[in-house]
Parts: sequence; C-alpha cells; structure tokens
Amino acid sequence: METPLADRPPANAADIPSLDRLLNAPAIAPLLARYGRTQVIATLRAHLDELRQAALAGTLQQARLTEEVIATALAATLADASRLRLRPVFNLTGTVLHTNLGRALLPDEAVRAVVQAMTAPVNLELDLSSGKRGDRDSLVAELLGELTGAEAATVVNNNAAAVLLMLKTLADRREVVVSRGELIEIGGSFRLPDIMRQAGAKLVEVGTTNRTHLADYTQAIGGRTALLMKVHTSNYVITGFTQSVSIAELAALGRTHGLTVAVDLGSGSLLDLTGWHLPKEPTVRETIAAGADLVSFSADKLLGGPQAGLLVGRADLIAKLRKNPLKRALRVDKLTLAALEAVLMLYRAPEFLAERLTTLRLLTRAPGAMQAQAVRLCPIVQQAVGDAYEVTGVTLSSQIGSGALPVGRLPSYGLAVRPVKGKRASLDRLDATWRALPRPVIGRIAEKTLWLDLRCLEEPDEAAFAAQWRERPP
Ligand SMILES: *Cc1c(COP(=O)(O)O)cnc(C)c1O
Repeated sequence: METPLADRPPANAADIPSLDRLLNAPAIAPLLARYGRTQVIATLRAHLDELRQAALAGTLQQARLTEEVIATALAATLADASRLRLRPVFNLTGTVLHTNLGRALLPDEAVRAVVQAMTAPVNLELDLSSGKRGDRDSLVAELLGELTGAEAATVVNNNAAAVLLMLKTLADRREVVVSRGELIEIGGSFRLPDIMRQAGAKLVEVGTTNRTHLADYTQAIGGRTALLMKVHTSNYVITGFTQSVSIAELAALGRTHGLTVAVDLGSGSLLDLTGWHLPKEPTVRETIAAGADLVSFSADKLLGGPQAGLLVGRADLIAKLRKNPLKRALRVDKLTLAALEAVLMLYRAPEFLAERLTTLRLLTRAPGAMQAQAVRLCPIVQQAVGDAYEVTGVTLSSQIGSGALPVGRLPSYGLAVRPVKGKRASLDRLDATWRALPRPVIGRIAEKTLWLDLRCLEEPDEAAFAAQWRERPP
C-alpha cells in the first residue's frame, strides 16, 4: 500500500522537479499562455528556491512537489502580482470629495467620452472647420464662457498648476498682495507662499489673520505690484471678530490703480448649491460678475469633473497665460478634455444635474435611502464581523471634502462597529482586514468606533458590497 504523500519523510533537494520539466508540464501550460514565459520562469525560479531552502531545513514535504501543487502555488503568486495597484474601493468615509480616494466620480456621459477619446483618433488640436491646426483649449473654452460669464478660458493639470501659471505669467519678480487671513495650505502640500516663491513672485501680506481692510491693500500698492489676489479659504473658516474685503471692492481698487485682480476660488462651483439645499459656496459666475479679472478653480472638486485646473477671465490675460511655455508643460491630455467637456455639457440642463452629475447626486442623496440601506446592511455586516463586535445603524454627518465647505455638514446614515467588551476585538485589525478585501472598504475610526457612512454607497454598489461580505467573511 502506498504511503500518503503527507506522511512520507521530508523530501531532499534532489526530489524537486527541474525548471525545464515544469515548463513542459501540462499544469503549467495555462499559466504560460496567460502570463508569458518571462514572468512564469521568474516566479517559478523564486518558488523552486523556496522549496530548496525548505529541503535544506529538512521541512520540505513531498506533497509540495507535485506539478499540480506547484502550479497552484504559482498561479496564486502570479495572480497576486498581476492585480492592479490602483483599484476600486468602497468610500465609506463620509467625505464625498476625498482627495486620497480620487475626488469626483465621473458621470456615464464623461466615461463614454473618455473611452471614445482613448480608442479612436480625435480632433484634439485640429480645427475641423478650417482643417488647420487647432488649440486644445478651444474644445471647452466656449462652454466655460457660457457657464461662467467669462470672456476666455484655459485648462491646465490642476488648480495648483493654474495658480502657478497665473503667478509666473503675471507676477514674476513682482509683488502680489494677499490678505494674511487667506494664506492657505491645502492638504497634499499646496501652500500659497510656496507657490508664490516657485513662481518668482514676492508675497506682500496685508492685514491680520482675522481682519483685513481695503486700506491695507491700498497701502501695499507700489511700483512693483503686479496683482491683487484673493484666495478662497476653502478648508477653514475664521469666525468671530472678522473683516475681509469683497471681490467687488478689491476689483474697484484694482481698476483705480490699473492692477489685475486674481482669485483662487479653490472648489469653484458653477451653480449656486443652495438651490439643492446645500451650504453656500461662491460660484465662478458671481466672482467674474463681481469684477475679478482672473479666476482659477479645480475641475474635480464641487464641479464634479476630472482632475484639471480651470482659469477663466479677461481674454487678454488668458492669451498671456496661453503663450507662457509653462502652459505647455502643464497642459491636460485628451482624456481630461473629453471628460471635462462631457461634464460641463451637463450643466446646460441644471434641472437634471442632481440626477446626472455623480458628485451632486451623492451630495443630495435622500436621507431615507441611506437609512434604508443601513437597515439592510446592518445584519450583513454584523454576521461578517462576528460577535466580538456590535454593529448598529446610526445617524451621521458627512463632509463634502476637498476644500469645499469645510464646516458644512450633511445629515447622513451609516453603521457603527464597536468592539464588545471582554472579547478579542481590535478596530485597527478589523480596519486593516477590510482594507485587504478584494474591493477594500474604507471607513473611519474615531471614538473607539469604526464608522461606515453610506452616503457614497449608491444602490448599484450596495449589492457588490453585500456580496463581498457574504463571500469572504473577514
Ligand atoms: C484645492 C485648492 C487648491 C489646489 O487645487 P488642486 O486642484 O488640488 O491642485 C488651491 N487653492 C484652493 C483655494 C483650493 O481649495
């Protein structure tokens, strides 16, 4: 009678099949077909090395040496190495525009436009009416004008790039006057004073942290002044005894002195969000109407589009920005423009925007829908985490995020996962396990609780979310 493989004595290095034999083994053939010889050989070599080490240590079981077992181990290693590092996650942080999770999600219209631009030649820089060379900016400039009331527009890689281009073009070796209350730092190391330095502009701070008056700007104006600048304090608020100068007042001062007034609006909403019962955020149109000469803002924050920095304003100034060689270095690709145009197009029908624009749809989700989801998902998550944790449905307040409406909170629903006293439970471990799921679940730990805010889990994703728990209880 044959001894079962597992019960045999440890194998020797000499029992390990050769690389050549394995490469010709039927069990390895599908791996070769899928991953190619180079990857399979490299992975196989590493695996055989491991087996040799085990043989030397006297711990190599015969069972590990069959072609099928080796093929299975190899398949797992190759599959793991081939998983994309950039992968979908479930954003249950409660922050809709989460910079670390990629900010705005694109609507279907934009996704279709991007796929088309990726897979077919496009008129990126070809004027179809004249047949001559075109300008990629012109694909969206008109639409941006229509939506903001600005004369002209240009597009760069992100808002930080937009501010850099603006300062470098208009204020190199000259002075820019900014209120001390607006010297912002945005997460991911955008600090206004640093950008100024990079652009060669000299920052002239005026006023105090909480109060800046028109006279402060007036007194700072001199022969080297290039710009009067306002920066939207998009991730903090100063309350109490405060005073700031409005864009209209600053614009009037700029006109008196023949100075350009530039505004970094940060999130830059194209429409007044109070129409959807969201907190007030200044719109680009209002800012232009108030007299700003140039306004910069992000396309992937409240606007709900792809990552880009948009600059709108006076045609002569936009023309200067476009001529700067830096613009060439900061330009956006066709995929960004494809997505941006499709998203901007949606703004032409504001009455459907809360349905069609993903960001706005998430920001305006009906509380009842989230509450019902919490009721449905509570037992599923409870079952998955076991009795060491207690899962309950809770009311939460979500954030818009990404430097938009820092103090505005949206009433929301979710789940609270808390360790049960006396059980071996660890929120950090649970959180780590969830991050290791095929589609990682990203929640938020605070107050000894792991919070799962359901605002960003729309119904189509809910099924996938629930299925993952059922398939692989953590
Ligand atoms: C977000 C933000 C920026 C940076 O924009 P990015 O698009 O992330 O480069 C700059 N200024 C303000 C006021 C912002 O809110």
